[in-house]
Amino acid sequence: MIGVPTSIMTMNIVPEVAALEADMRTWRHHLHAHPETAFEEVATSAFVADKLRSFGLDVHTGLAKTGVVGVLRCGDAQDAIGLRADLDALHIQEQSDVAHISRNPGRMHACGHDGHTTMLLAAAKALAARRRFAGTAYFIFQPAEENEGGGRVMVDEGLFERFPVRAIYGMHNWPRLPAGSFAMRAGPLMAAYDVFEIIATGKGAHAAMAYQGKDPMLFAAHAIHALQTIVSRNLHPQDAGVVSVTQVHGGDTWNVIPEQIVLRGTVRSFKREVQDLIERRMRTLVDGIAAMFEMTATIRYERRYPATVNSEKETDYAVQAAATVVGASNVDTEPTPELGSEDFAFMLQAKPGCYVWLGAGNGPETPNIHNPRYDFNDDVLKIGASYWVTLAEQQLANVRA
Ligand SMILES: [Zn+2]
Ligand SMILES: [Zn+2]
Repeated sequence: MIGVPTSIMTMNIVPEVAALEADMRTWRHHLHAHPETAFEEVATSAFVADKLRSFGLDVHTGLAKTGVVGVLRCGDAQDAIGLRADLDALHIQEQSDVAHISRNPGRMHACGHDGHTTMLLAAAKALAARRRFAGTAYFIFQPAEENEGGGRVMVDEGLFERFPVRAIYGMHNWPRLPAGSFAMRAGPLMAAYDVFEIIATGKGAHAAMAYQGKDPMLFAAHAIHALQTIVSRNLHPQDAGVVSVTQVHGGDTWNVIPEQIVLRGTVRSFKREVQDLIERRMRTLVDGIAAMFEMTATIRYERRYPATVNSEKETDYAVQAAATVVGASNVDTEPTPELGSEDFAFMLQAKPGCYVWLGAGNGPETPNIHNPRYDFNDDVLKIGASYWVTLAEQQLANVRA
């Protein structure tokens, strides 16, 4: 574990970023007050494009509907890297009391993508002002990170053919780590995300004459229990996996055994073999339980996001940049991976790169991401933006360290 840094003031904040401190807060609060969700980030996208143009970048819009890519060239070196932020908010009713509370009912920047967008904008402005690199920096603002896989859509629509990068980098604020720290590791940092839907069809009956029916409630009771044996009884203890049933739908009244029951949930894993094993065992258990109770069951299993896997070399580069900003003692290179998921994984499947966690917490009481009381920690805006600037300048140096 790493300790709480003594003072954010002692950090190596890029002066051009420090000069943008007030602007960054203004931008972030504006974005926070006007959250937009997957593929509908029209105003957010326009805000980003306008800012990038005002900094003198070439701006490309329309990739994955609302995605924006800013291009900043310095000299005629061919080298290029991509820095990525996400634009979208969540379907959550905000419950905080901040002045910049969401003006869009039912929508909220509860994952801090307002902060991510702001930090990457500030980095673009600072890098454009400094012009201390050789090559091209691509600033990639992707839509629909939450659930809808905007990162995959961007890659499918030719992101890296149009903007050929040597490596791609991503960053997410992490309230469970102290402000002024970073964490990253080579290999998987976040998990693959699958969803499943199981529909069991029995035979409805009067609840007082259950012997005349085939009760799908029994299927649900046994299936939820049995699915928990996959991780505990089938997985190697050193492998990680999660099977969570999160929805049970069935029945309408007191005295009727319904015909059908629907179970839905999610599966998380880091390895393809584990993902395959969980799906296979789920199908076997579901078929077996349905047969046991003389009913039928179908299963729809959908693999949504792959695991987020950092490459070795690019992780070293990310560690170097983070250490330059916050000091090596505040960079955790062996964090425990989380089984949350991230659609930056699709970009990492296409290009080598590194996804890092930016510490953003002020103790254990800090609301975590996706909490209705969460708010991005403005104190780390300059840290994240300085990391981007430092990383780009270290990577696009004539001679890389
Ligand atoms: Zn999120
Ligand atoms: Zn997020």
